[in-house]
Amino acid sequence: MERFNIDNLIVGCGFTGITLANKLADCLGEKVLIIDVKDHIAGNCYDYFDKNGICVHQYGTHIFHTNNKRVWDYLSQFTKWYPYQHKVRGYIDGQEVPIPFNLNSIHQVFPEYLANLLEKKLIDTFGFNVKVPILELKKTGDKDLLFLAEYVYDKVFLHYTLKQWGMKPEDLDMSVTGRVPVYISRDNRYFQDKYQGIPMEGYTKLAQKMLDNPKIEVKLKTSYQDIKSCVNYKRLYYTGPIDEFFGFTEGELPYRSLKFDFVELNKPYFQSGACINYPNNYDFTRIGEYKYFLDNQSDKTVISFEYPQNFEQGKNERYYPIISKENEDLYQKYLSKAQKEKNIYFCGRLGGYKYLNMDQAIGAALELFEQSTRG
Ligand code: FAD
Ligand code: UDP
Repeated sequence: MERFNIDNLIVGCGFTGITLANKLADCLGEKVLIIDVKDHIAGNCYDYFDKNGICVHQYGTHIFHTNNKRVWDYLSQFTKWYPYQHKVRGYIDGQEVPIPFNLNSIHQVFPEYLANLLEKKLIDTFGFNVKVPILELKKTGDKDLLFLAEYVYDKVFLHYTLKQWGMKPEDLDMSVTGRVPVYISRDNRYFQDKYQGIPMEGYTKLAQKMLDNPKIEVKLKTSYQDIKSCVNYKRLYYTGPIDEFFGFTEGELPYRSLKFDFVELNKPYFQSGACINYPNNYDFTRIGEYKYFLDNQSDKTVISFEYPQNFEQGKNERYYPIISKENEDLYQKYLSKAQKEKNIYFCGRLGGYKYLNMDQAIGAALELFEQSTRG
């Protein structure tokens, strides 16, 4: 095949790649070819409106939340936001309890005298409106707080984490369970970020608007391996798996994957909110119910059951990098190879082997755009 020239080749049409494409075309007027092996844009954030008008997130519930005003303002050029604030409940001993476990959860599950005692001790020890990772709380010297820590560890974290990661919380990097700390507060929201919401017309429409520039060509169902021998570029931005790019020479970076079972039900609602966690029952970790995000009205509802799995090439997708010292060392070997490549930039959840939320992925892409095009 004949080789062709392009200013920028972007591998991966998730929000990392889309942000880079948008900036390169809009700000510099450069040509961009952005490819994805999948048959749709928006990567893991892909959503679609089904026949009942319900916006379904194909890769599990996605809630946008950030304290980064720059990222919020940037995306707000392309979408209006439905002001959705995420609340999660965990099904614990037959009750739906607010997660992160907070003072309301304490009052819901314990007798009043005990709840009051635990509330006072938590506030005296840590303060009010403070987030304490479960593994920190377990280090407390106070016997009542230790009782609470053991309870939350067992009822909220242990079995969920065993399902999700095949590991105990203490064998995982603390930052992972630290995403859902014990929260000494009456705030039942999952996130406290200043800006939270769902793109009014969905993530895919937002992605389409960001790519809407004649300088950007999108090619789907095309992998980097398919086209690498026929394209010359000034810069390559690679948001696929960094180990795959280098032919797994140093070994495979491990990932966790998920299987989503979607079910349409002939009733207006199935559960009390968009996400209910099942730490202790069943083999799935959580059930998502999609109509809550944009308050879609229908006599039907769509839910998904989330079953964690090991990642296996060809069988399922890479969703979560597994954060550990050993895996970080392996990633560093690939990174040092990457740093020797001229004008090739690795980024995103897979390219950087990082557990990134959407806002972090987009923030990092905005920074990379500036850094890679400077001077
Ligand atoms: P991706 O979206 O994974 O995009 C990478 C793209 O590259 C993919 O489309 C892939 O097909 C393509 N690709 C890979 N290799 C190749 C190749 N060789 N050739 C061509 N194309 C290739 N974040 C939040 O902020 N809020 C949430 O509520 C939230 N929920 C999540 C729930 C789940 C189950 C998961 C897994 C993630 C969630 N996230 C959430 C994180 C969010 O999905 C990511 O931050 C975001 O998708 C990262 O974008 P990305 O572009 O880096 O990666
Ligand atoms: N977690 C848990 N029980 C819960 C919620 C979370 O044990 O009810 C732990 C689990 O290890 C999970 C991690 O906290 O992987 C991070 O949770 P989060 O909801 O942020 O995960 P994500 O939405 O990224 O899958």
